[in-house]
Amino acid sequence: MTHAHRLHVDLEVPCLCCLAPQPFHFTSLSDQVVCALCVHHLGAEKSERRDLEHVRLWAARWAASETGHADFVSETDALLVARDVDLTALRDQVAELSAVVAGQFTAGIDGVRGLLQNDLVKRAERNTDLARRQIDWAMAGIWRIETLHHDSATQKCSCGRTAGSCAESAAIDPLRQALRDWEKKNVALLRNGRRHGLPADHPAVLAQRIR
Ligand SMILES: [Zn+2]
Ligand SMILES: [Zn+2]
Ligand SMILES: [Zn+2]
Repeated sequence: MTHAHRLHVDLEVPCLCCLAPQPFHFTSLSDQVVCALCVHHLGAEKSERRDLEHVRLWAARWAASETGHADFVSETDALLVARDVDLTALRDQVAELSAVVAGQFTAGIDGVRGLLQNDLVKRAERNTDLARRQIDWAMAGIWRIETLHHDSATQKCSCGRTAGSCAESAAIDPLRQALRDWEKKNVALLRNGRRHGLPADHPAVLAQRIR
């Protein structure tokens, strides 16, 4: 009886006697497809012994396969647990990153708010500065009128007219106190080396220049 298996290579082929897959290395097509354990089953051995050995063989194989299966099950369980741990870690990481992103967004909004506030403050400062310059400019004009029209010792305006008849003097009368306050404040600024609104021909400015 010949077989159809390949020759001169290691193979695993079911033994025709025990039917279990067994290692074979055929060198001829006429080699018997019977494993090492079963070689003597072909002889005049009793069938009881053959059957017993087959049962033992299959019992051992089943036990090995069962152990392998149990190992596989516990390995799979361990893998599932590890996967769960990984998933939990990833979820934590996602939550952490979400918090970071949200935090950065809030920080960004705060930054923009800061910039806007800064801009508003700067604009307000600019407006205040502009208003002060306009006041300085108007006060300098009034100051110039005041140097021409102020009370002199003889109940006359310094322009020569009588106190009651100088229209310019009467016009700036309600502003004289404000003018004195402004002058005082600006002279102090001048003395402190700060920017002031006094005209170039103001006595304090001239005195400073001489010093
Ligand atoms: Zn066999
Ligand atoms: Zn056998
Ligand atoms: Zn006058």
